[in-house]
Amino acid sequence: MKAVRFHEFGGPEVLKYEDVPEPQTRKDQVLIKVEACALNHLDLWIRKGLPGVKLPHINGSDVAGDIAEVGEYISDLKVGQRVLLAPMTFCGHCQACTSGQQSLCRQFSVLGYLNDGGNCEYITVPRVNVIPIPDELTYDEAASVPLVFLTAWHMLVTRAQIKPGQFVLVLGAGSGVGSAAIQIGKLFNCRVITTAGDESKLERGRELGADYTIHHYQQKISEEVKKITAKAGVDVVFEHVGKATWDESLKSLKAGGTLVSCGATTGPDVSMDLRFFYSRQLSLLGSFMGTMGDLLEVLKFVFNGRLKPVVDKTYPMREARAAHERMEKREQFGKVVLNP
Ligand SMILES: [Zn+2]
Repeated sequence: MKAVRFHEFGGPEVLKYEDVPEPQTRKDQVLIKVEACALNHLDLWIRKGLPGVKLPHINGSDVAGDIAEVGEYISDLKVGQRVLLAPMTFCGHCQACTSGQQSLCRQFSVLGYLNDGGNCEYITVPRVNVIPIPDELTYDEAASVPLVFLTAWHMLVTRAQIKPGQFVLVLGAGSGVGSAAIQIGKLFNCRVITTAGDESKLERGRELGADYTIHHYQQKISEEVKKITAKAGVDVVFEHVGKATWDESLKSLKAGGTLVSCGATTGPDVSMDLRFFYSRQLSLLGSFMGTMGDLLEVLKFVFNGRLKPVVDKTYPMREARAAHERMEKREQFGKVVLNP
C-alpha cells in the first residue's frame, strides 16, 4: 500500500510517499481503509523529532474510513461500515482505564505517535477505537473531529467545568482546538471571546458563535478582555499557545478564575509571580487529550449537528509536504486533511 513515511527527522522535505507492507489484521483487530486523515500540530513535532518515535514512521492521529476486515473475535461490526477512529491508545485493563480515565493510563498515547498512524491506505486498530459515523458526515469532516473536539471537551467540560453565562476566552480561533472550543463554549451558553491574527479569521470565529473577538497582533488581549468584561476578567482561559500568550492569559483571568492548558505551540518556558497566583486565587489546570467517555459524549453533538467540524483544506496524501507547510505557516482555519 501507499503511505507517507519519514526515515529521518527534519523539515517537511523528509516526508516520502512510498510503498510499505499492508498491515496484518489480528483476530482482535479491525482493518480500516483510510479515506481521510487530518493533521495536527503533533504531526509536525513528531516529524521534527520526539522521544520514543521509531523510524521509519507513519504519522496520523485523526482517521476516518471504511471497515475493510473484521477480526474473528469481533462480532458487532461489518465490512463496509463508515467509521472514525478514537485517536488514542491505552492498555484497557489498568485502574485508570477501567475507571474510564484512559488519559491517566501509564500506556496512554496518541494514535500515530508511538505506533504508526493513518497517513496510509490501511490501518489496523483494536475494536474499542472504531466508532461508526452517520451518513451525513463526510470522511473529511469525520477526520476533522476526533482529536480537537476530544481535547477541547475534556478541557472545558471535564476539567474547567464551564457553566452558562461564564466568560470564556478561547485563544486562536483559527486552530483546530480553538474552533472546537468556541462551539463547545456556546453549546454551554457561555459568553465566548476569541482571538486571531487576521480579520478573516476573526470573522470566521464570529461565524462559529464567538460573541467578541480580539486581534492579537493589533490589540492587547488582557486590555480588550477588561473592556469586554467591565474590568472583571474572564472565568476561564482556554490556553494552548504557551509562551507567546501566557502572561496575557493570566492577566485576563478574573479573581478565582481558571486557566486550562493543553499545549505550548509557541514554547513551553513560562514564568509566573506566585503572589499574583495565590492572592487572586487562580486555578491552573493541565489537560491532555481526554477519555473514551469524553469522546463518545462530544460525538453525540457532532452527530446531531450541534457541533460542526471545521475543514480548512484537503490535499491528496502524496502532497503531504504541502499540507505540512500550510500548517507551519499557520495559514489554516480549522483542519488540514489528507486523502489517500
Ligand atoms: Zn490503562
